[in-house]
Amino acid sequence: MIIFKSINKLNKKVNFKANIGFVPTMGSLHNGHISLIKSCKLKCKKTLVSIFVNPSQFNKTNDFKKYPRDLKRDVAILKKLNVDYLLVPKINDIYNNKKSMKININKKDKILCAKYRPGHFEGVLGVINQFLTKIKPKYMFLGEKDYQQIYLIRKFIMNKFNTKIVSCKTIRLKSSLAYSSRNALLSKKEIFKASLASKMTNNFYKLAKKNFVKIKKINELKRKIEFQKIKVEYLELRNKKNLSTKVNKSNFKIFLSFYINKVRLIDNF
Ligand code: AMP
Repeated sequence: MIIFKSINKLNKKVNFKANIGFVPTMGSLHNGHISLIKSCKLKCKKTLVSIFVNPSQFNKTNDFKKYPRDLKRDVAILKKLNVDYLLVPKINDIYNNKKSMKININKKDKILCAKYRPGHFEGVLGVINQFLTKIKPKYMFLGEKDYQQIYLIRKFIMNKFNTKIVSCKTIRLKSSLAYSSRNALLSKKEIFKASLASKMTNNFYKLAKKNFVKIKKINELKRKIEFQKIKVEYLELRNKKNLSTKVNKSNFKIFLSFYINKVRLIDNF
């Protein structure tokens, strides 16, 4: 595996006209990231992984500071997976100026995480814009755990970049909790608690799939989760194609955000 600390050096060495797949991450790698990398390796000739904790997508400084980082462990995992290239850029390498750190999103899209984490997706689009401008991968692999992120990135890169997005399904622990780098900030007890929120929502999703009338009980589900002393930030039904609130039996998706102490987790079913 070749490790690049600058995009310039990466561009000199790698021919992006070839079939290259890109897996952007913020590191602290887990099975979710690993499944993206494996999908990339199956589809593409070469795999490029980036590790960059993007400051412009954190709306709270403390959250940025506390975000788990473990580069040594990450490098060992990537080497074991036979990843071809790893990019670990510095902030100055990505952004030339403050203005390039954010890309505005429509008022209509300020829902779910965009509503509760103001500036977050503006920062995500900012970094994706820089990555895709500076390197031109054929494919970019993203996880459905961050469903709204895929939706907004797809919309943003359409007609602007040729990179194709491959969306990969959410990988979960046996307890149903989605793998997340933030899980590293939780104790065993807290992982158990977080798993309850996922399990209850997943069960509710399955019931509603069988009998859509049950969907009306979503507020009851919220109360049941909160009864477990879990702070629910949002629990919403959305149309999986356009994220509108116009849902029916075949297009609905449930979006969940909750706090375990100060750690914020998201999921969707
Ligand atoms: P992050 O490092 O959190 O920015 O995530 C990097 C990529 O991994 C994003 O495309 C995420 O959607 C994806 N990802 C994170 N967790 C999971 C998971 N549990 N299953 C599948 N993909 C995931």
